[in-house]
Amino acid sequence: MSLESKIKALAKEYAGEIIANRRYLHTNPELSFQEFNTQKFVAEKLKELGIQPEPIANTGLVATIEGRNAQNRVVGLRADMDALPIHEKNNVPYKSHNEGVMHACGHDVHTASLLGTAKILTQLKGEFDGTIKLVFQPAEEKAPGGASIMISCTCKYAWAARSTECTRWQNRFS
Ligand SMILES: [Zn+2]
Repeated sequence: MSLESKIKALAKEYAGEIIANRRYLHTNPELSFQEFNTQKFVAEKLKELGIQPEPIANTGLVATIEGRNAQNRVVGLRADMDALPIHEKNNVPYKSHNEGVMHACGHDVHTASLLGTAKILTQLKGEFDGTIKLVFQPAEEKAPGGASIMISCTCKYAWAARSTECTRWQNRFS
């Protein structure tokens, strides 16, 4: 079976779990830079897969999946995690429990999809070359938002000169 077929088969197998994760996130939306419960949920799911996430930009996370020849190339996959200050009028079982806050921009789907992708790629890591960086970004709905902070901290990691602020987030999480 080709790698593509294996990915499709696993996506089908895990669809129910991915939808359940999306509905949990939809029920529990959080505003920009307040994604503490979302961050915890994502971190727990990644740890279940044997992936150790690193906190970044206070309420964000990055995690790594290494395939064969991990140093050959790096591919980043990003999901945003914050919701909007909107009252949800939908009458669905997974309606927002956080009054006045709603996943109206689809970041619940983005986050659940990236978690599903992590589950699939972890299982297939012996079958692709390179490294996958999973980027769970906070505060996409704000400007300036989480992206610029993540980039700034990531560059500091790369230069082995983390700012006190970046280190503080690390300490809070561990
Ligand atoms: Zn959005």
